[in-house]
Amino acid sequence: MTDQLLVEEIVAGYDGKVAIEDVTLTVARGSLTALLGANGAGKTTLMKSIAGLVVPFSGRIRFDGTDVTGKDARRLVEMGVSYVPEGRAMARALSVRENLVLGGMTRSKQDNREQIEVVMSLFPEIAGRQHSPAWQLSGGQQQMLAIGRALMSRPRLLLLDEPSLGLAPLLVKRVFERLEELRRTGLTILLVEQNYWITMKIADCAYFMRNGRIVGRKEAAEMRSAGSPEEILSAYLGSTTQGTNPS
Ligand code: ATP
Repeated sequence: MTDQLLVEEIVAGYDGKVAIEDVTLTVARGSLTALLGANGAGKTTLMKSIAGLVVPFSGRIRFDGTDVTGKDARRLVEMGVSYVPEGRAMARALSVRENLVLGGMTRSKQDNREQIEVVMSLFPEIAGRQHSPAWQLSGGQQQMLAIGRALMSRPRLLLLDEPSLGLAPLLVKRVFERLEELRRTGLTILLVEQNYWITMKIADCAYFMRNGRIVGRKEAAEMRSAGSPEEILSAYLGSTTQGTNPS
């Protein structure tokens, strides 16, 4: 697999204050790569830097071989990078279908009509709710809508920020099954999570982030064969309580 995303020594933050430092990572084409870390580790800042919502102080981001450092968010969407923010951030008063159309703003009407069908077949839970306002959906359905909306721009790289947040375990399982399905379509996914247990089941590899820095990387096989996942957690994240072990 070749690298679709290459992040090199990124330093970024807010109002001149550094939040993430010397962050280097690669995301292989067609992979599901995870970024794990506790609250405040800097995961969202990194995602926003890749999505063009935060301009890095230094470092370089390459997408499909093109330097995209500091490019604005809309341009990145057009280039094939789509971001699902933490908390879903959808237009609550708009219908499911209207939210999807907003997600396809950079595409033609015909493209949107076709892509809405693709999204509906991936998420049958929201297919029957196309004219319901988004606020009426359950948490799991809202997360599916947020992912569906991001898919409307026909991305080649999907950036997902904590899709499990606030969802009951059964819904988390359902959303993650869809992520696996999406990956099988060849879509490249960078997934931010705090829930180690569910993430390790679907990720090809995981980076661990702590205090604004990448502190480790593990391949899926290493994570799954680890005698004690708690050792990985305490070594990289300084905690043994990242998510619930369903087994
Ligand atoms: P969480 O899981 O809680 O979202 P995170 O790993 O995504 O955490 P970030 O949100 O990237 O972490 O936060 C990294 C650091 O940057 C934190 O110290 C946070 O307080 C700070 N920070 C995040 N957003 C802003 C902002 N808009 N303005 C100023 N500081 C911010």
